[in-house]
Amino acid sequence: MSRILVTGAAGFLGSHLCDQLLADGHEVIGMDNRVSGRTENLDDAFENGRFSFYDHDVTEFIHISGELDAVLHLASLASPVFYRDHPIKTLKVGALGTHKTLGLAKEKDATYLFTSTSEVYGDPEVNPQPEDYRGNVDPYGPRSCYDESKRYGESLVRAYRDKHDLDVRVARIFNTYGPRMRLDDGRVIPNFMKQALTGTDLTVYGDGEQTRSFCHVSDLIDGLVALLESDVEEPVNIGNPDERTINELAEVVLEVTRSGSEITHEELPPQDPKVRRPDISKAREVLDWEPAVPLQKGLKKSVGYFEGQL
Ligand code: NAD
Ligand code: UDP
Repeated sequence: MSRILVTGAAGFLGSHLCDQLLADGHEVIGMDNRVSGRTENLDDAFENGRFSFYDHDVTEFIHISGELDAVLHLASLASPVFYRDHPIKTLKVGALGTHKTLGLAKEKDATYLFTSTSEVYGDPEVNPQPEDYRGNVDPYGPRSCYDESKRYGESLVRAYRDKHDLDVRVARIFNTYGPRMRLDDGRVIPNFMKQALTGTDLTVYGDGEQTRSFCHVSDLIDGLVALLESDVEEPVNIGNPDERTINELAEVVLEVTRSGSEITHEELPPQDPKVRRPDISKAREVLDWEPAVPLQKGLKKSVGYFEGQL
C-alpha cells in the first residue's frame, strides 16, 4: 500500500482517480479548494477509512505530516469557460500550485505526476499530435492562461527532475468525458447532453467541422494509473484517437439520448483549435495501454448521469 496525495480531488478526473487508488488498496489524501470541484464527487471515497480530505488551495504552502509515496497534481481550472472567467487563478494553479506540489514531492521523496494537456499543442499544425510535436500556442491569445500555465508546469517538472532527481511522470490528457462532469462547465459533451435531454437546440460553434477525440473517463484513469506505475519520465499522450467532427459528435449525442432536438450554429470562440487527435503510439508501447470504450458506448453509459444532473 502506498500513501498518495491527489490534488484536484473533488473534480471530475481527480475524484475518479481517488476511487481507483482506494480500490487498488492505497491510502489517499484528497486536496481541493472546490473552485470548480464538488465534494459530492467524493461521496464514495469518504466511505473508505483510507481516505482523508483537505480543503486547501494548492497555490499556498502545503503541509502534510508523515510520509508520502506519490503526489498527483490534477488541480487546475480545466474547462475553457472556467479558465476564460478565471485566467489569473488558472495561471496561479499551473505555476504556483505546480511549484508547491513539486516542493512537497521533493521534501517527501515522492513520485510526482503532472496532468498536462493536449492544449500544450495549441492549434496544432500536425494531426495526429505525437509527443515530440512542439505545438502552436499564441502566448498572448485568449486560451494562453491555460496553455502556457501547463507548458510552464511541464518545464518546472522537468527542472525538478534534472536539478533534484525527482521521479516524475507527465500525462498529456486529451478531451475526456463521463459521469461527474459538471453540467454547467461549458465543455461540449455536458452542453450537448443537457441540450439533447431538455429538448433545446444543440449549440455547435462555427461550422462544426473542427475535430476532437473523446476518451471515456474509465480508460483515462487506467492510462493515468499505468503511467504512474511505469518508470516513464517523458510526457505521454493519454486519450482516445477516435477523431470526430463536432457535427458528428452532435449526431451521436442525439442518437444515444433519442432526442428530437435540432442543431443550431453559434459563433466559434476565438482561436478554437481546428483539429485534435492524440498519437498514442508511445502509450501503447511503453504503458501497454490503449482505450477500450467506443464513443457511442461511452456516451450511452453517461446519459443516466447527465439526466440525474438536470
Ligand atoms: P475539474 O475542474 O473537474 O477538476 C479540477 C479540480 O481542481 C477542481 O475540483 C478544482 O476545484 C480544483 N482546483 C482548481 N484550482 C485549485 C487550487 N488552486 N487549489 C486546490 N484545488 C484547485 O477538471 P478535470 O477535468 O477533472 O481535470 C483534472 C486535470 O486534468 C486538470 O489539471 C486538467 O487541466 C487536466 N486535463 C483534463 C482534461 C479533461 O478533458 N477533463 C483534458 C486535459 C487535461
Ligand atoms: N463546442 C461546441 N458547442 C458547445 C461547446 C463547445 O460546438 O456548446 C465546441 C468548441 O468550440 C470546440 C469543441 O466543441 O471546438 C470542444 O470544446 P470544449 O470546450 O469541450 O473543449 P476544448 O477541446 O475546446 O478544450
